Amino acid sequence: MEGQQKFRHIYIEKRVMDHPRTREILAHFPESRVILIDHYKAVFNRRGQSAALQHQSQNLILAAAKDTNVYPGAPVCQDFGNAHFYYTSCTMNCLYDCEYCYLKGMYPSGNLVIFVELEKIFAEVEALLSQFPVYLCISYDTDLLAMEDIAHYCTAWSEFAAQHENLTIEIRTKCGRTDLWDHLPRCERVIFAYTISPEPVILAYEHGTAKLDNRLEAAAEGIAHGFPVRLCFDPMIYVPGWEEIYHDMLVQTVKIVPLSRVRDFSVGSFRISESYLKNLRRQEPDSAVVQYPFTLDRGYYHYSQSLTERMERTLVEELGRMVPEAAVFRWEEPNE
Ligand code: SF4
Repeated sequence: MEGQQKFRHIYIEKRVMDHPRTREILAHFPESRVILIDHYKAVFNRRGQSAALQHQSQNLILAAAKDTNVYPGAPVCQDFGNAHFYYTSCTMNCLYDCEYCYLKGMYPSGNLVIFVELEKIFAEVEALLSQFPVYLCISYDTDLLAMEDIAHYCTAWSEFAAQHENLTIEIRTKCGRTDLWDHLPRCERVIFAYTISPEPVILAYEHGTAKLDNRLEAAAEGIAHGFPVRLCFDPMIYVPGWEEIYHDMLVQTVKIVPLSRVRDFSVGSFRISESYLKNLRRQEPDSAVVQYPFTLDRGYYHYSQSLTERMERTLVEELGRMVPEAAVFRWEEPNE
């Protein structure tokens, strides 16, 4: 795990107290105080919590799988041309603390929840796979690579994908670890998708995440080890001087990552659902990135049409000049 995370309290649902994964996770935190609970919601859904404040000293909750754990992909997410696009939340919340993260607008708590009954989630995916090929994002509501040392979920999912030919998985990350490549099982249908942001954006808004160079080095190492790697210039964040800042980021990317060996790229600017932004603004009253006067359009906030177009087109065109053969996916607003 990047940086040693300590959880002062670990809440455990009684029904998973003896689950092998519970025992394994607990072994990493011998100093944490363990509190048994009936249901994770008793802690996670408590009224009057501040997700932003709780991020400063996160507690951990270990819980049984929910009744439903696999969902159709949300319209704000890039589907990379896949017809059957799903995501799963085998954990809720993240060790990182990006200021613009929609999770603070979505969840009532900043505490980290790990659903330890991964096999039940696998069974749900298998039910879908019996009907059609599935493209599954497993690291949207968290950063699974950042917590690989405590939960080993990237390993477990990679092994699961290797056994299911019609399953493709995306693991989205801002993690900069390079040592994991020696341990993770390699599967050509498990894509490690690095969110690439300019260093000034990382410093200002992506608290706790890996620096740009570290992310790029991790991506380059992944490629060198034969893992499929995707680079996501998404979400692009508007900051004064964004043209130069994003140009510098691309120059740095070219220096470190062999772009011709990147599986594909995505480009998209910040967007968020109306209700999440409302909550997020309450959580982050002083944040420039969150308080920006976005445009509301059919339930989603984003930059104005002209700024969105300028930011995304500039990046797509520059990327196209650097890697003419690149497969670039640009997020497009769904039609009604
Ligand atoms: S890495 Fe992703 S999930 Fe984690 S805080 Fe940042 S935006 Fe949220």
